[in-house]
Amino acid sequence: MVDDSKINLLDLDKVRLEGFFSDLNEKAFRARQVLTWIHQRFVTDFGVMTDLSKSLRDQLAEIATITLPVIEHGYLSADGTYKWLLRLFDGNCIETVFIPEEGRGTLCVSSQVGCVLNCSFCATGKQGFSRNLQVSEIIGQVWLANNALGRDPKGERIITNVVMMGMGEPLANFNHVVAAMNLMLDDFAYGLSWRRVTLSTAGMVPAMDRLRAECPVNLAVSLHAPTDDLRDELVPLNKKYPLRALLAACRRYVSGDKRRAVTFEYVMLEGINDSLQHAQLLARLLQDLPAKVNLIPFNPFPNTIYRCSSIDTINQFRERLLQKGVMTVTRKTRGDDIAAACGQLAGRVQDRTHRALRYQSLANSQTLSA
Ligand code: SAH
Repeated sequence: MVDDSKINLLDLDKVRLEGFFSDLNEKAFRARQVLTWIHQRFVTDFGVMTDLSKSLRDQLAEIATITLPVIEHGYLSADGTYKWLLRLFDGNCIETVFIPEEGRGTLCVSSQVGCVLNCSFCATGKQGFSRNLQVSEIIGQVWLANNALGRDPKGERIITNVVMMGMGEPLANFNHVVAAMNLMLDDFAYGLSWRRVTLSTAGMVPAMDRLRAECPVNLAVSLHAPTDDLRDELVPLNKKYPLRALLAACRRYVSGDKRRAVTFEYVMLEGINDSLQHAQLLARLLQDLPAKVNLIPFNPFPNTIYRCSSIDTINQFRERLLQKGVMTVTRKTRGDDIAAACGQLAGRVQDRTHRALRYQSLANSQTLSA
């Protein structure tokens, strides 16, 4: 249980921690000291923070905590991908995935318990939605994974990149996600460059502009279709923010900075969005944008109506985009044997939308009538 009478310092980025210490009539540099203890030395006991005075340590123990999610389970994939199931104070569970690659290690972080968006091809959406994660629950994933994985023999952190691509729509939990990313970027915490922190959105247009203004990390957009008709079907949020508005927001996001490009994610669904004509339309859509396309082989989950496109189809689709001058890579499927791949994260969601139930009964009736 969390002690509500105490403030969890893991919920505070540097600016807020400075505010906290100034309220205690302490100097701003206390914030930097405490950030270092928490996020670089992984200390959760105020008693150990020896560069703080004894009286301040006692006062912190009285009024504050450093409380993390609890590791309920860890799963190791045959390909080295590792997934943590984390239990939150209210019994909900979320998932965090570590993906080791040559020369880098990427942590895929969740932002919500479940998701409200209900994209038709995503397992997280089918779980329904419970709530937004607290800052402590978002940065807590980074803390736990870094603490578990540590550093390589050269002293470099094993986790070199963070992608906000786990459960949930990060821009729907804007303030908490930005505070957590501030900590990822803070030299007194995780010290990652903005290029190594990527936020993926299904296209919440106004929040994309806010992100550019407040915390301009790398942007990925889940596109999945080159026309509004098809995208309305796959990503229902498209009805609110259609392609024209979405691409205009992408242009604003990269404008004025030549180092920036938007990554567009495109899940390959057999017979749905994977024809050469779709590739052609996609290339046209992206022609005047610094863009990279990431083709994601569809990862199946129970009761889905979709299938993944064949390798040949994916290759031809990629070739066509490359011919048209669009930088395109196919994302390697990782961790699918432990249900850790894109779109497979489900955690344990106390669904308040009852969507999981409706989806289950729909799937049952389809099986019955098939
Ligand atoms: N809500 C955000 C963050 C989730 S990121 C977003 O939509 O971008 C997870 C990525 O995996 C998204 O690009 C999502 O569209 C993709 N994805 C979802 N379900 C998938 C599936 N079953 N197979 C492959 N990719 C999937």
